Amino acid sequence: MENTKELRTWLDAMNLEHPLVIAGPCSAETEEQVLRIAHELKDSDVNYFRAGIWKPRTRPGMFEGVGEIGLRWLKKVKAETGMKTCTEVANAAHVKLAIENDVDLLWIGARSTVSPFIMQEIADALAGTDKIVLVKNPVNPDLALWLGGIERLYTAGIKNLGAIHRGFSTYEKTKYRNTPEWQLAIEFQNKFPDLPLINDPSHITGKRDMILEVSQTALDLNFDGLMIETHFDPDNAWSDAAQQVTPAALKQIMEDLKVRKETNTDEAYKKALDNLRAQINVADNQLIELLGKRMKVANQIGVLKKDKNVAVLQSKRWNEILGNMILEGESRGLSEEFVLKMFKAIHQESINHQEKIVNA
Ligand code: PEP
Ligand code: MN
Repeated sequence: MENTKELRTWLDAMNLEHPLVIAGPCSAETEEQVLRIAHELKDSDVNYFRAGIWKPRTRPGMFEGVGEIGLRWLKKVKAETGMKTCTEVANAAHVKLAIENDVDLLWIGARSTVSPFIMQEIADALAGTDKIVLVKNPVNPDLALWLGGIERLYTAGIKNLGAIHRGFSTYEKTKYRNTPEWQLAIEFQNKFPDLPLINDPSHITGKRDMILEVSQTALDLNFDGLMIETHFDPDNAWSDAAQQVTPAALKQIMEDLKVRKETNTDEAYKKALDNLRAQINVADNQLIELLGKRMKVANQIGVLKKDKNVAVLQSKRWNEILGNMILEGESRGLSEEFVLKMFKAIHQESINHQEKIVNA
């Protein structure tokens, strides 16, 4: 993919003063529900009205979407409110119906991006369309699958493209429904710098009270927009009840978000920023130097252990270190989650060093 700039023409042409906003219910439930939410969102910053018609549910037996009839409701939304519409497509039949029914933007869900077969089927069905197509990241933290999905669409001649970052599922329980793994989103931005990237805080957090915080982080990382699930009665929604917000709450989130410019020519600002960045560079170099020193000490321990034929992994000692560091971290404003992650990585590297010596 070369000229990725043209892929964002659709977004640039909108000339927005604020990030792109996609909002609406997780699922279309009834005609009344869809229209009521759309009318309540009409006078807000919302650019696209979303509603899932075909719902990918992890376990069978749950509400799997209203299907084709929902497309008629989306047509009514457009006719009555003037809002453009979007929905998820997961196979060639969905694509055909969505295009026939004049849906403006189609997105590909996280459970489809994981499958190159499905991605190819969708890309073939969409070939040459001028609809906007957004690809959600795959369920698992695999950057190549995400990039591959975009590339399949590009190769099929789809010129209005974008991506949605909706977080990644993990085996371990975290405070997120799907952990953001921001570094992966940043890597994605580095690969396709011009491709519009939208954040989906609803599926990342799974909880409505964390949506503002995650949205703000996304904007600070120069994301182009947000997709936020919205319902007039979130608690009684037929899917994803805990993460949906009311139209009023959505408007409040939009008001509370600080939209910062990517750059600013003000000289004093530049100077201060350069200074702080320089301090960060110094601190980063110190970190690397210290870690190098720590590994040297670990090597010496390896030599001692080899000498006495002692096992490399000493769980009691490791738990002590971890406990102490979490406390130390806390007193310096570092989250337990971060300290744990960092020390697990450091510990693993120490073990690798020692194994090398013990098994030499
Ligand atoms: C959705 O947007 O409602 C949805 C099913 O999302 P995801 O594919 O991110 O799980
Ligand atoms: Mn949902």
